[in-house]
Amino acid sequence: MTDKEYSDFLIPNVSHDYLYYEDKYPKRDLKEGAMVTRFAPSPTGFVHMGSLYTSFSDLRFAKQTGGVCYLRIEDTDGKRTVSNGIEGILDDFKSLDISFDEDPIKGGLYAPYVQSERQDIYKAFAKKLIEENKAYPCFCTEDDLNEIRTLQEVSKDRIGYYGNYAKCRNLTREQVIEKVKNGEKYIIRLKSNGSFLNKIVLNDLIKGKIEMPENDLDIVIIKGDGLPTYHFAHAIDDHLMRTTHVFRGDEWVASYPIHEQLFKMLDFELPKYAHIAPITIKEGNTVRKLSKRKDKEAAISYYAKLGIPSEVINLYLATINNSNFEEWYSSNTDKTIDDFTFTFNKMPIGGSLFDIDKLMNISKIYFSRQSGEAIVEKLLPYLRTYDEEFYEIVNNNKEKLISILNIEKYIKRPRKDIASYSDVRKYTWYMFDELFNSDAYKEIEKKDYYDVEILNDYFSNYYDSNDSKDEWFEKIKLVAEKYGFAKEVKLYKENPDNYKGHVGDVCELIRVAITSLTTTPDLYEILKVLDNNSIKNRIMMFNKAL
Ligand code: GLU
Repeated sequence: MTDKEYSDFLIPNVSHDYLYYEDKYPKRDLKEGAMVTRFAPSPTGFVHMGSLYTSFSDLRFAKQTGGVCYLRIEDTDGKRTVSNGIEGILDDFKSLDISFDEDPIKGGLYAPYVQSERQDIYKAFAKKLIEENKAYPCFCTEDDLNEIRTLQEVSKDRIGYYGNYAKCRNLTREQVIEKVKNGEKYIIRLKSNGSFLNKIVLNDLIKGKIEMPENDLDIVIIKGDGLPTYHFAHAIDDHLMRTTHVFRGDEWVASYPIHEQLFKMLDFELPKYAHIAPITIKEGNTVRKLSKRKDKEAAISYYAKLGIPSEVINLYLATINNSNFEEWYSSNTDKTIDDFTFTFNKMPIGGSLFDIDKLMNISKIYFSRQSGEAIVEKLLPYLRTYDEEFYEIVNNNKEKLISILNIEKYIKRPRKDIASYSDVRKYTWYMFDELFNSDAYKEIEKKDYYDVEILNDYFSNYYDSNDSKDEWFEKIKLVAEKYGFAKEVKLYKENPDNYKGHVGDVCELIRVAITSLTTTPDLYEILKVLDNNSIKNRIMMFNKAL
């Protein structure tokens, strides 16, 4: 049997050889320095904060270098596969407005992007290794492997299929052929050329140099069901999809010796690696990885429900990704994330504690920089799903809500109260007659200067919605004086006994009467948004509540 016949015998019915695929998937024609990255999840049905964080690096670095970022589904492990697993992931990304340059639905020149559809490709490369005597069939049964393990435990040796323990490594071709003909089941293993005594170095782009023993395990490359293992499949895919940079969780550092060896034995150029430290969370005295099972904050749907915009999640991930991003974003009010250049040396080497307060704070900054128009546009679809009542109100009063949201927005220190779409109702409800009734006054703390006569006089004889802010305030001062309040706080402080209060108290009276609240954005602006009828009604309700 020639080498070729031997590999055909072990792995039959493969339509093409590996050279066919090398031709079919040529090197990408990109400018110097452009990164080709990939996000490669198992089809678990959803994206969570941890995986989103990895994809953030993939997408950012590809984008900022003019490269390509593709999505590849790694479904060779049946245990990690759920039905609709791929659709779920794509839907989650869609809900976050994230798209990849190539993905299983969109396709691309390096398709298919689902590993289970690439079986022939893996087999072609497994055959290459067999022909070059770099891989071999292994007939060991579960019992055989247990026996090896027991032997290793007794002699306190390293566990695994390697060296002299690798029983099938030295079977002759004749022995192999006979076993196959006898119907014995087999898998394909790599014939490792490494020694555990040698050291290799991973030059990680984030973590720096990491020294590890060379791999000497004869790892499985093709399983009994004909599917490749993760190690084997990802090496072939990263090569054929012409990946230049691999971003992945740092739990994969330990597998690097296997991967480096695989790439070398397959004659592939090794991509560069960036192992990302996880997002962590404090539990009692210990710090652990944010868990998609235990932590509600890990689910993307949690933020969708709260009404946190996807841009904010992106901004938050940027603050974890690069330690200098947050300060840059806070001080560059006119810039967006696309104006920032992410670098490897600013990425954290150890885990980053998940900080929901920081996320909310970033969200407040984000909302403060959005126009009222932009907020309302995205608010409506949110409300349609989560708050029908407010949806109807906003839909009928778009301009009004825009005016409300624009209050104190275009000033040096814009207001930063709203952190989510669900907050919009919380901070604006009192401006809508549909939501405002006498119950609003139930909680107010009644003060002795809460006098409706002052209000009636003010609104009948002084207030004019066309006044400038200065004119408006001058009139309030007049009313204050008329009813025995100091027109300036300073005067009041000098002689508190001479006055009922000061101009600020008159403003408070107006504010409480009109909104039922003691703190709101600028009162002058608020009054301008409300019409005379609303104001009249509210004064009546206020009067009753006193
Ligand atoms: N499929 C692997 C996982 O879900 C991806 C690891 C990698 O990016 O290489 O963890």
